[in-house]
Amino acid sequence: MELDEILQTNRIDSGKPEILFSTLQMLLTTLPDMIFVKDINLVYVASTDSFAAMTGHSSVTDIIGRTDEEIFESRELAMRYVADDRKLLSGGKHLIDYVEPLTDKDGTPRYSATSKYILKNGDGVPVGLLGISRDVTNKVRARQQYQQEIEYLFNLPADAYAAVFIDVTDWRIIGQRRQVIHQYEVPLFDTLSHFINIAETGVVDADGEAYQFYRDFTEEALSSIYLKGKSGLSMEYLRRMSDGNSYWVRDEIKFMSDPENDHLCLMLVIRDVDSAHKDEEQLRRAAETDGMTGLLNRAASRQKIQAFLSGEGSNGKHATFMIDIDNFKAVNDNFGHREGDLLLTRLAEGIRACFRDSDIISRIGGDEFFVLAKHMSSHDAAKARADKLLSLAQDICAPYASVSTSISIGVSLFHEDGDTLTDLYVKADGALYLAKNRGKNQVAFASELHQADA
Ligand code: GH3
Ligand code: MG
Repeated sequence: MELDEILQTNRIDSGKPEILFSTLQMLLTTLPDMIFVKDINLVYVASTDSFAAMTGHSSVTDIIGRTDEEIFESRELAMRYVADDRKLLSGGKHLIDYVEPLTDKDGTPRYSATSKYILKNGDGVPVGLLGISRDVTNKVRARQQYQQEIEYLFNLPADAYAAVFIDVTDWRIIGQRRQVIHQYEVPLFDTLSHFINIAETGVVDADGEAYQFYRDFTEEALSSIYLKGKSGLSMEYLRRMSDGNSYWVRDEIKFMSDPENDHLCLMLVIRDVDSAHKDEEQLRRAAETDGMTGLLNRAASRQKIQAFLSGEGSNGKHATFMIDIDNFKAVNDNFGHREGDLLLTRLAEGIRACFRDSDIISRIGGDEFFVLAKHMSSHDAAKARADKLLSLAQDICAPYASVSTSISIGVSLFHEDGDTLTDLYVKADGALYLAKNRGKNQVAFASELHQADA
C-alpha cells in the first residue's frame, strides 16, 4: 500500500474528538521518538519530550506556539528547517528517513533520520506537517568509520599489487583495485573462486602458512578466525605470478563487519616486499660467506653444523672431513700469492663438486676446509668420498707439481668418534695430523687415532 493510501485510510472515528485528543496526548508522552507537529505557518502544535530536549528545551510547553527561529539557538539551522518545510509543503511529497546532521545541547554533532508527512484536512488541503525523527548517530558513525576504513585500505599504497574487498557472508567480491609493480599486474578476479584458485596456486611454499590459509579459504574458516577475536592477519611468502616470475609479497588481511547488514567482510592488500626480502637475504648470505671461495665461513658452518646435529640430523650417521693443502706455502713462495689464491678457489670448487649441495662445506682458515657430509652411513662411504677428493685435488694441483702440492684429509664420524661438533672437529684435526705425518696426500680416520692410543 502506498503511503498516501495509508494516510487516507480511515483508522480513526472522527466523531470522538475527546478520545482522539487523549490518545494523541498519551502517544506523545510515551513514545521515545522525537515527534513534532507544525501547523501550516510552521508554528509548533505538539511534540514529545525527546524532541524538546533535542532542541535544548526542558519542556514541551517551551515549544508549543513557537517557530523554529524562536526555539533553535542557531539561526542558520532554524532557517534551514523552515526552508525544508516550505519545500516539502509546496512539493506535496512526504519525506522519508532523511538523515541530517544536528547538534545536541552540548554541541556534540549527532545525526537524525527524519520522516516528514504533510497533514491535510478533509478536503485534501495541507494544514500542517508531522515529523518523526530517530537518533541514528551511532549507526551513522559506524557507517562512516567503516567507509573511511575501506577507503583507506582501498587507496592502494605505492607498494601494493592489489586490494580485494570481499563480502564473506555473501561470498562475493565487492570491489578490487590493482596497479603495476615489477612491470606486472595481477589479473582481474572474475569471481571469488577464481581469486581463491589464483591465490592458492601462486604460493610457492606448500608447507607455509599462506598456502594453508588459501587452501582453507571458506566462509566457515574465515568466520572462525574472526570470532576468535582476530581483527586481521598478515603473511609473508614467495608468490609465483602468472607471468612466471616469483616475488616476495606480504598479504595483509583485515576483517570488518558491515554495520548496515552485519556481514563479515575482509579487505586483502597484497604488498610487494621483494627487494626488502632479497636485500636482507643478501646481507645474511654475505655475513655467512667466505669472500674468496664463496663457501661458508668458519662461524656460519659452525652454527649450521651444530643446528643440524642437534636437530634433524641428531639420529643419523654423518661424517666430517678436515682438508688441508700440502705444502701450500711453497705455492705462494714459488708461484706468487695470486696463484695461491687461484688454487684455493679451484680446490673450493672441487670440494663442492665432490659433495652434495645439502652438505655443509666451509673454508675455516688459510688453506683449511671443513665439511659435514650428511647421512654418510659408513666408514667405507667416507673413504670412497675422500679418495675421490684426493684424486680430484691431484688434477687441481698438477700445475704446481714442482713443489709437490696435494691435499691431506682427516675424517671423523658422528656418534662413533664424538657426539658434538667440538669432538668431531678435534678428532678430524687429529686424523689430519696423522695423514700429514704419514707422508701427506692421503686420508686418515679418527678411528686410527684410537688404535694409535691403544
Ligand atoms: P702443510 O703441508 O703442513 O699444510 O704446510 P703448508 O705449506 O700448507 O702451510 P700451512 O698449512 O701451515 O699454512 C697455510 C699457509 O697458507 C700460510 C699462509 O701463508 C697461506 N695462506 C693463508 N691464507 C691465504 C690466502 O688467502 N691466500 C694465499 N695465497 N695464501 C694464504
Ligand atoms: Mg697446509
